[in-house]
Amino acid sequence: MKEAARQARTESRIVGFVPTMGALHAGHLSLVARAKRDCDPVIASIFVNPKQFGPQEDFTKYPRTLEKDAEKFAAAGVRALFLPEAPEMYPMGFATYVSVEGLSERLEGRTRPGHFRGVTTVVLKLLEIVQPHFAYFGRKDAQQAKLISTMARDLNLDTEIILGPIVRESDGLAMSSRNAYLTSEERIAATVLHRALAAAREELAAGERDAARLQSSIRRVLDAEPLMKIDYAEVVDVDSFEPVARVTSSSYILLAAYLGKTRLIDNMFMELRDGSADFTFHL
Ligand code: AMP
Repeated sequence: MKEAARQARTESRIVGFVPTMGALHAGHLSLVARAKRDCDPVIASIFVNPKQFGPQEDFTKYPRTLEKDAEKFAAAGVRALFLPEAPEMYPMGFATYVSVEGLSERLEGRTRPGHFRGVTTVVLKLLEIVQPHFAYFGRKDAQQAKLISTMARDLNLDTEIILGPIVRESDGLAMSSRNAYLTSEERIAATVLHRALAAAREELAAGERDAARLQSSIRRVLDAEPLMKIDYAEVVDVDSFEPVARVTSSSYILLAAYLGKTRLIDNMFMELRDGSADFTFHL
């Protein structure tokens, strides 16, 4: 992989990279489509990274659909697919980790201790191997995207991190490989995450700026769904990822909740463009 990527760079081509854990859906493929606008070749990877799963998490049952994934990536125009194995990525004696302090321990990191250390370590390794000019990540995993951008800046990586919007099913559920775990009853109930964010968007559009009031209306919508158990619902500034009391700058509303045994996350990105007093909502 290193040799192939190096060859492309010496030919002065712009290398784009889309790392995934496979079980592909339209969210992953939207990142490939975005990468193809800027880059040639586009390289993708599939690696179900053991280091980002907790001991009680779903590493062994995470969906693995390699043949279909390879077809989908090829049809989308991916020129090279990198499929490392865990023993090559983590040889005996592997001892070096990278973690972004602070934010890694909050929100997702509080419920999933060690998760982000595994994510940033594998992403740094993948970026070192491929050395792409651009790497593409989804806003579906907003906190992950923020941590990766912070790591790239802090460690002077030569890769520019580009974020793509969330791709949703027609009923609003954010696409996720983990949606495959939902029973048909849970699948119907899962739309409540999107409905809660849509309710917040209505309130924001009507002028509400108080984060606590937005959070309580989100919780009201989520609590009305008996199958749903909230993990967190927070309003954070888009740059600092610190909770805000009032929504006055570009922000995220971040949600995590359990449906049965399945943990789902979702978010809404609210963008305040320079000189504008109104938010653009990305939901
Ligand atoms: P994963 O395979 O879940 O590790 O995801 C690989 C990449 O796809 C990550 O950058 C995710 O943020 C992104 N991604 C996953 N789901 C979506 C979605 N519904 N919309 C956009 N990007 C997504």
